[in-house]
Amino acid sequence: MNSKRILIVGTGFQGICDAAHLVGVPGLKIHMVDAAPFFGGILNSVPFNDFYIDKGLHFFSGVDAKMHEFLSEISSGGIHPIMSPPASGFGGDVVENFDLPDLSNLPVETRKQILSELLNFDDSPLPHPVNLSQHLHDRYGPTAGGIFEGIFKKIHTVDANSITAREIQKTGLVRLKFDTDAEMLRLKSDPRLDDTLAARRPMETAADSISSFYPSGGKGMFGFAQDAQNWLSSRGVQIHLGKKIDTFSRSDTGWDVNISGAIQEYDQIVWSNGTVHQLAKILGISAQDEDPFLPVPVVFAVFGVNAADVNLDSYIQIFDPVDVVFRVGAGGIFGNQTKGDGSTFITCECPAATTSALWEGAQDSTDQIWRCLNKYDLVALDVEPNWVKILRVPRTLKLQMAGSENSLAELANRISAEHQSIFFRASPPGFRRDIFAASTQLRGILQL
Ligand SMILES: Cc1cc2nc3c(=O)[nH]c(=O)nc-3n(C[C@H](O)[C@H](O)[C@H](O)COP(=O)(O)OP(=O)(O)OC[C@H]3O[C@@H](n4cnc5c(N)ncnc54)[C@H](O)[C@@H]3O)c2cc1C
Repeated sequence: MNSKRILIVGTGFQGICDAAHLVGVPGLKIHMVDAAPFFGGILNSVPFNDFYIDKGLHFFSGVDAKMHEFLSEISSGGIHPIMSPPASGFGGDVVENFDLPDLSNLPVETRKQILSELLNFDDSPLPHPVNLSQHLHDRYGPTAGGIFEGIFKKIHTVDANSITAREIQKTGLVRLKFDTDAEMLRLKSDPRLDDTLAARRPMETAADSISSFYPSGGKGMFGFAQDAQNWLSSRGVQIHLGKKIDTFSRSDTGWDVNISGAIQEYDQIVWSNGTVHQLAKILGISAQDEDPFLPVPVVFAVFGVNAADVNLDSYIQIFDPVDVVFRVGAGGIFGNQTKGDGSTFITCECPAATTSALWEGAQDSTDQIWRCLNKYDLVALDVEPNWVKILRVPRTLKLQMAGSENSLAELANRISAEHQSIFFRASPPGFRRDIFAASTQLRGILQL
């Protein structure tokens, strides 16, 4: 039996999935390393007022049977489905059971304009869009495309014309709804529009396909990270925390890596933290451009509330660009963190550029954020929060800049050609379902 040593860099969900899929390969020794002093990357919830507060709204979303089996195994069954479907907000209205923008409360003239632009689409194939702005206009027409551009800017704090078209998959802008479900269904019967438009599924169908799960143990996502750390450790994975990898040296058979003062030898490195440019720098490969992935900064406002005052079981996405809040989730309620006296918490994600007044004065903006919750009737009107905790996270989701596709592919090709014993993903997957799916292929790719 051959013995092989692998180092996985990053203990976020990607590192966890990659490690778990390699566990059990005969003769394989797996080490994991993370720059942070804790395990789990962004899954690490913050303890506050006897609660565990996630850094934002986190779910295991889009979970299929295979991923469910995986999560259940890692957490010894300690995950539960989120039974209430999400909601969508726009213009002060809440639409239940829908997680994309619903523009059906726009003035009738605007909606007629959207329809006429959709029906007058030229059927000839369009050139590949140079950026997301063009893609939104090509896909939805100038009126709806322009509205979606404004929504994109609110949600991601960056202009859609700076971002590559394929990043639409990381947004809630993948389909358009601008009228009643019946009218949308009627329009969708036109094959040219079916893929562009959305109608809500009936409630019972939505409930049948529950696909969001959350850890049950009352410790937020930290509970899952802890379970994963224990699961991996008990299967022989060695975990090194608080150690940033910033150099690798070539050895005769692979790589020497300095971890906490001791040189460790590895045959293979799995780069599971999503930053190809960082990897290139470590390897001394010069990139043509700066890192093309722009991080979205988010202010998280967590409000201590009484569960009885919350009109929300899961979460809502508020798409209207005039509202400061994007996602609001009843994290304390669906995460089994409601105390005996009924106190719990809700979390608001407010994307904010790091130069903005909201970012700078986040602590002073809590009233503005709370009023937005009132506007959408998410909390009882006559109450004030019991406490507020502000977290500012400068790097959350990352979006690839327009025009960087070729130089990124070229850089990835150079790394792969020069260093076959380093595995990385040039365009890292965004959602956990995609992270999980990517890791299921790792054994095959590494030929283990
Ligand atoms: C606020 C927020 C909410 C989200 N909600 C959802 C959701 O509900 N559903 C969903 O499917 N997806 C969600 N996502 C998207 C995505 O699924 C998560 O971002 C995912 O958990 C990311 O995992 P990761 O391992 O790629 O990155 P991370 O969790 O960021 O982990 C990367 C790790 O690598 C370490 N690292 C980096 N460089 C080095 C180095 N040189 N040496 C050592 N260690 C290093 C870092 O310290 C970090 O711990 C959300 C993302 C954010 C930001």
